[in-house]
Amino acid sequence: MPTIARKTASSRSPRPPRVVRGSLVTLRRKCGKAACRCADGQQVHENPALTFSDAGRTRIVALRPDDVPAVQAALDRYQTARDRLEADAAAGIEALRGWVAFRRQQDRRG
Ligand SMILES: [Zn+2]
Repeated sequence: MPTIARKTASSRSPRPPRVVRGSLVTLRRKCGKAACRCADGQQVHENPALTFSDAGRTRIVALRPDDVPAVQAALDRYQTARDRLEADAAAGIEALRGWVAFRRQQDRRG
C-alpha cells in the first residue's frame, strides 16, 4: 500500500480568514527595554489582538493595526452567519412543533 502524504493545514496563509470567532481587544504592555518610552509605564505599547475561547481557555492572537479591518469583517461574518443559524433553528422548532402536532392528529385518526 502506498504511503499517502497527509496534507497538513498550512499555518502560513497569504490572506486573512473569512470568518473568525472572538473579540478584538487592545493589548497594553511594556516591552522590557529600559530606554524605551514605555519603561516608566506612562506610554505603554498598544497593539490589537483577537481573544477567543478554545476548550474553556482564553487564547490570544496578536495582530498589527492594519489587520483590524479584515479581522473585524471576519467577526461580522461570523455574527451574521450565527444570527442566521439561530433564526433557522428557531423556525425549525416551530416546524417541529407543527410536525409533531400533525403526526399526533394522524395517530388519533389511525
Ligand atoms: Zn517599550
